[in-house]
Amino acid sequence: MKIAIIGGGPSGLFLAILLKEQLPHTEVHIYEQNPPDATFGFGVVLADAGLSNLRAGSPKVVDDLVGAMRFNEWQTIVSRDSAISIRRPGIGGGAISRITLLKILGDHARRLGAQITYNHRVTDFSSIDADLVVGADGINSQLRVADEPKFGTSRYNLTNHFAWYGVAKPFPTSTLVFRKYLGGCFVAHYYPYSESMSTFVAECDHQTWQELGMETMGAPKRQLLFEEVFAPELGGYRLVSNNSNFRQFDVIRNSRWTFDNRVLIGDAGSSAHPSIGSGTRIAMEDSIALAGAIVRNGSDILAALEDYVSVRAPAKAKLIVASEASCNWYERMREWMDAFTPHEFVYRYMMRTGRVDNARLKDQYPDLAAELERAGVLSTTTQ
Ligand SMILES: Cc1cc2nc3c(=O)[nH]c(=O)nc-3n(C[C@H](O)[C@H](O)[C@H](O)COP(=O)(O)OP(=O)(O)OC[C@H]3O[C@@H](n4cnc5c(N)ncnc54)[C@H](O)[C@@H]3O)c2cc1C
Repeated sequence: MKIAIIGGGPSGLFLAILLKEQLPHTEVHIYEQNPPDATFGFGVVLADAGLSNLRAGSPKVVDDLVGAMRFNEWQTIVSRDSAISIRRPGIGGGAISRITLLKILGDHARRLGAQITYNHRVTDFSSIDADLVVGADGINSQLRVADEPKFGTSRYNLTNHFAWYGVAKPFPTSTLVFRKYLGGCFVAHYYPYSESMSTFVAECDHQTWQELGMETMGAPKRQLLFEEVFAPELGGYRLVSNNSNFRQFDVIRNSRWTFDNRVLIGDAGSSAHPSIGSGTRIAMEDSIALAGAIVRNGSDILAALEDYVSVRAPAKAKLIVASEASCNWYERMREWMDAFTPHEFVYRYMMRTGRVDNARLKDQYPDLAAELERAGVLSTTTQ
């Protein structure tokens, strides 16, 4: 069996590993448009729960990823310049530079015999000679774009604007700072991912974008503005850009994940908003489900694709619903920043995805729950 994977991101590389581990005689060829030492973004976080799901797919790979991660059990949320610390359950979130993640996955895939062709952007999908063509080509998937009606694609843009920067300062904890500045509403999410670097996601609402003239300001001035807004936290460090363009998040959904011998996985199939911090994990879980379906169905590709969708769709839907609830919450951050005290704000933040209720908050975040009770927030808002 020959399987072509378009895209050497987390989902494509992990799928290749899982296939070669379980079906060593399958020919797996990955096409990646970038060179092996280049990617977008900086560090990503994989939470404790996500890592155990991935471990079920390939323990060896997850051991290597965990070895390269920086774990931090604390998260700080700042609103109205008041900081509240949250101890996260388990071992907390593990942060890793995206390029290290891809290198570890790429090394495993090659060691197992997958072929990876870098610097190769696929544009003509009909000429690919394979029994199965996998679109693991991310949010701007060309495999999807080429046949959107067949995949039943729908899309809309969120209104907030965000950019993915780095900063050469290893912050002590993962922190979200919501700040009003010059009448605008800004948020920075930063977390360390190596000895010397942190990710810094910069975001503002559309009203801010318009009122402060950010559309016409140009990239360097926008960066300077964020450096000014978050000067107390940056302490003189400059933001580092890696094609860090501001954009409005594309919410992409597909009513069908497959047609003929083509299938979409990861962001190509359903984009996951960065604020839920699970896009990589969701993408890699897709790979586990697809590899499992191929193993179960042997050379019957169409049966495997049907099996993949029936197994994966219900579990993925829950994560995607949470992602949508989270991004909708961020879309209204101006209202929350105006309305809520820091404790109320943190409570709302914790509840934003609908996956945490009061009982779960008390069970998994007992210190925070106690603090919110002392502040009169948990009891007064409990229904
Ligand atoms: C600001 C920001 C912060 C984030 N933080 C986190 C986080 O902390 N934790 C987390 O889990 N997730 C995070 N994410 C989400 C995460 O980056 C994505 O969900 C994840 O990368 C999806 O993986 P993927 O394999 O589906 O696609 P991608 O990672 O996008 O990989 C697709 C690959 O396909 C290649 N490609 C595209 N088109 C072609 C083509 N035509 N031919 C050949 N190659 C092609 C691309 O170069 C790329 O390497 C964040 C995202 C953003 C934007």
